[in-house]
Amino acid sequence: MFISLQQLEHRPVRFDVEVPAGEMEYDNKLKQISMLAAQGTAALLNHSVGEIRIQGTLSVTMQATCDRCLETTTFPIENQFDLLYMPAEATRGGEEEIHQAGIEVGYYEGNGLALQDVLREVVLLALPMQLVCNEACKGICPVCGQDRNQRDCGCQSETVDDRWSKLKSLRAEVSPHN
Ligand SMILES: [Zn+2]
Ligand SMILES: [Zn+2]
Repeated sequence: MFISLQQLEHRPVRFDVEVPAGEMEYDNKLKQISMLAAQGTAALLNHSVGEIRIQGTLSVTMQATCDRCLETTTFPIENQFDLLYMPAEATRGGEEEIHQAGIEVGYYEGNGLALQDVLREVVLLALPMQLVCNEACKGICPVCGQDRNQRDCGCQSETVDDRWSKLKSLRAEVSPHN
């Protein structure tokens, strides 16, 4: 669905869409594994400037591999969004103020924007910065490769590293006297 400025000049555009898994492209770490459903409105805020405000709700389940242990993990998203899009050619002077107000700002080129691009943005914004299966995920042991959530391998990597750095600083202290 394409939301054009022409349409918006007449009245706000309502949308109620369902996007099946596999239809939208994300970055290759992410996969949509459920129907994406979104409802909302797009409205022209300021006719002369061409600011488009898109508000609505979105629900979808995404899948990614955990950043720490590489297990496949699902991320259910239930999100209310409120985004502001400005024409790419407009001056970006007001951006800072808008950021402070807590509204995400995007840019569009030409005479409107594709709803799917907006929805992709909403999904990416709704995901946590770090994609982990669990906040407490212990990850994979850098020494033996064991998934430390399943079993504690007992490797002492941190302790060994610590001793080496202590030894190094000791050497640095000693060397001037040589
Ligand atoms: Zn994990
Ligand atoms: Zn280990």
